[in-house]
Amino acid sequence: MSNLDRQATLSVCGGRGFVPGEPVRELLSPRKVKLGESTEVRRLLPNLGRRMIGAWAFVDHYGPDDIAGEPGMQIPPHPHMGLQTVSWLHEGEVLHRDSTGSLQTVRPGELGLMTSGRAISHSEESPAKHARYLHGAQLWVALPGAHRTVEPHFQHHANLPTVQAPGLTATVILGELDGTLSPGTTYSPLVGADLALAAGTEAALPLDPDFEYAVLAMSGEASVDGVPVQPGSMLYLGCGRTELPLRAVSDAGLMLLGGEPFAEEIVMWWNFIGRSNDEITQARSDWEEGTRFGEVKGYDGDRLTAPELPPVALKPRGRVR
Ligand code: MN
Repeated sequence: MSNLDRQATLSVCGGRGFVPGEPVRELLSPRKVKLGESTEVRRLLPNLGRRMIGAWAFVDHYGPDDIAGEPGMQIPPHPHMGLQTVSWLHEGEVLHRDSTGSLQTVRPGELGLMTSGRAISHSEESPAKHARYLHGAQLWVALPGAHRTVEPHFQHHANLPTVQAPGLTATVILGELDGTLSPGTTYSPLVGADLALAAGTEAALPLDPDFEYAVLAMSGEASVDGVPVQPGSMLYLGCGRTELPLRAVSDAGLMLLGGEPFAEEIVMWWNFIGRSNDEITQARSDWEEGTRFGEVKGYDGDRLTAPELPPVALKPRGRVR
């Protein structure tokens, strides 16, 4: 997915100074963002007051949307730099194309992981023949300095490992949970896991006290560390936890995001993550001039044009606004 906001604003984040060293419970509200003509998503990161969770720097939750007889998701070719994108679906399917030649349908329970490294472009669309409902999350992971110019590549993993407890199935999407490792390539210590809870479940999920965590609520009625979480909201949990109490009133779907607090300060603008205003400005002009980001073949439509840069130079700063 792309940040299609035409008034793209600067996001500055990173640096460990703003990460609470102990458990907290901060309920983050989503911001509604229009993607194209018909799709509206709920943006949880970046959020007022909190910009990253470990290396996770961008979280959109969308649906469930009834797209019967409609085009559904149509995100034209657009560039990325300095990050990985994670596509995760609960319902429907997304057809991914990118400038390395990938053509892959991603379905519920499957990981679509695109590593932009120094430069990639991609499109995402609901296939012409698609399921009635589309429901999922689109996430970005910031690449640390040592790896942010790696060769761009795409991975698709249809069989992901799980951690089981009575009434709880945790699918390890990316990184590691309780010693279980996703096959997706990571570049910093982190975790992304899907938590499927059966109605009536009470469970305690083992956590790494060195990570900071948040839980995104996707469906159902559940509480996390005693806090009821509505679908489309996210509860930030801080660091220093060895386990996380979960309770499901109905069948519920959550996503656990966590990681070692990201040490570097980053500059995030539109679909790019860099370290300076100059890098972002260069990436924007390279995309507009048609260099560096390659070409997406087969998408029926024009590519996205970049929004105007903000009038004031972008500066990397701390994790909170
Ligand atoms: Mn994208």
